[in-house]
Amino acid sequence: MSTEETNAGHAEHHSMQPASAGTRKRGLAQIRSECCTGCRICVQTCPTHSITIVESELNFNGIAVVDMQHCTGCNICAIDCPWTGVDMFNPDGSRREQTQYDKQLRRLRGYH
Ligand code: SF4
Ligand code: SF4
Repeated sequence: MSTEETNAGHAEHHSMQPASAGTRKRGLAQIRSECCTGCRICVQTCPTHSITIVESELNFNGIAVVDMQHCTGCNICAIDCPWTGVDMFNPDGSRREQTQYDKQLRRLRGYH
C-alpha cells in the first residue's frame, strides 16, 4: 500500500472521529470526507499549510486531510470551503457552530 493510500484511509477514519477532548489547547478542523470535493481552496487559504489532498475512493480529485499537529483552529478553512466540507471543534471536543465564527467571516470579507 502506498503512502497516499495509507494517508487516505487515515483521513477517512479521522473524519468520523470527534476531536480528542481535553488533549488540545487549540481548536481543530476536521474534514467531512463525504462533502469534500477536493477543490483545494482550503489548501491554499490555510495560513499554517496544515491541509493536503490525499487520494480517496470517495472522490477522484482526492479529499482534504488536516494535519492535527499544525492546525491552529483558526476557522479559515471552514469559512472558505464552498461545500461545507470542514467541521470545527473546540479544544474540549465540542463542535464549534458556524454562528460562533460568522462575525469572523464578516470581518474577513470586509463588511465591518
Ligand atoms: S475547500 Fe472544502 S471541498 Fe475544497 S478541498 Fe477543502 S474541504 Fe474539500
Ligand atoms: S482551522 Fe486554520 S489552521 Fe486549521 S486547517 Fe483550517 S485554516 Fe488551517
